Amino acid sequence: MRILVLNAGSSSLKYQVIQVLPGREKMLLKGSVERIGAPGSTVQDHTAAVEQALAAAGEVDGVGHRVVHGGEQFRESALIDLHVERAIADCCPLAPLHNPHNLACYRAAHALLPGVAHAAVFDTAFFHTLPHRAFLYALPLEYYERDHIRRYGFHGTSHRYVSARAAEELAIDPGQARLIICHLGNGCSVCAVEGGRAVDVSLGFTPLEGLVMGTRSGDIDPGVVFHLVRAKGMSLEQVEDLLNKRSGLLGLSGRSNDMRDLCQAAEAGDVRAELAIDVFCYRIVKYIGAFWAVLGGADAVVFTGGIGENQPEIRDRILRGVAGLGGFQPLVIPTNEELLIARDTARLLSGKAAASKPPSE
Ligand code: ADP
Repeated sequence: MRILVLNAGSSSLKYQVIQVLPGREKMLLKGSVERIGAPGSTVQDHTAAVEQALAAAGEVDGVGHRVVHGGEQFRESALIDLHVERAIADCCPLAPLHNPHNLACYRAAHALLPGVAHAAVFDTAFFHTLPHRAFLYALPLEYYERDHIRRYGFHGTSHRYVSARAAEELAIDPGQARLIICHLGNGCSVCAVEGGRAVDVSLGFTPLEGLVMGTRSGDIDPGVVFHLVRAKGMSLEQVEDLLNKRSGLLGLSGRSNDMRDLCQAAEAGDVRAELAIDVFCYRIVKYIGAFWAVLGGADAVVFTGGIGENQPEIRDRILRGVAGLGGFQPLVIPTNEELLIARDTARLLSGKAAASKPPSE
């Protein structure tokens, strides 16, 4: 089966064509369309971007879409029909910076390829196993029951892929493995996985909580927001922009959101770059310690994502910080969200084909 995987952001569309055969997969093609809707860009909207991706992909049997937010409704990937499409639209207020683009991309692809099955693979689905004590905020309970305010977690496809690969690599029963997965890219999160199920995660109601990220602050006292609004006269939009786009590594260093730049600058004596790296690593150490306690120990601390996979100096610094915990193996496992999206799509497609076959005699 040839599966087209689409991962739409606000101004970019990444795509891959992956051949899924029983027991193995092969990536056939990879590309991206950038600057969607930017002034002067030839790519006006997501429809034009999807047209480009489809032209490059050729014939495909199914399309897998990365969808950031599936709310509480989606515990696993799903073939998209009208009901699922509506449910994804209902999640737009929960992820206004992400779901509308995922939906626009699906609608464009569906219009261009109406005869092909489309599947949604949700970033939040892996976290449906979080217990109440991990996903509830200490707000009056009706804010969860009525307004669905809770920790959802994101990067679930990456954590699901990497935790399964880690159990394989450790050659331990996945049902017994206790793993702490650090996904460190532009977005960053730590996830505690027990027996293949997520039990806690650092990202929250939105992808703003937890670790220091490229441009996002991660954990911050909500009182800071009130102070900025009251004492500095900032609007909510300005504060949102500050915390999402101007904070994190970029804000602390005043230089870059790219860890490679910061490591180089710190090496050359830039004090703010060194400070940003220090805050970044310290926060990760804190979360690993917390999740180690939650799990009652860990078999492995696993690094993935652009920083986790490629920057040994950052891994070493974090590992020095958690050296006192002991008993775990450090691992590096490259993530591959697209592969899991292709696998899920192929599995759902096969299930659909089997269900629509007349029963044999
Ligand atoms: P995203 O969350 O956007 O997918 P990535 O996982 O590509 O981001 O991670 C980007 C971060 O990884 C940047 O801080 C970058 O400096 C760092 N990085 C370090 N080495 C590499 C590399 N070889 N390729 C890509 N990113 C790298």
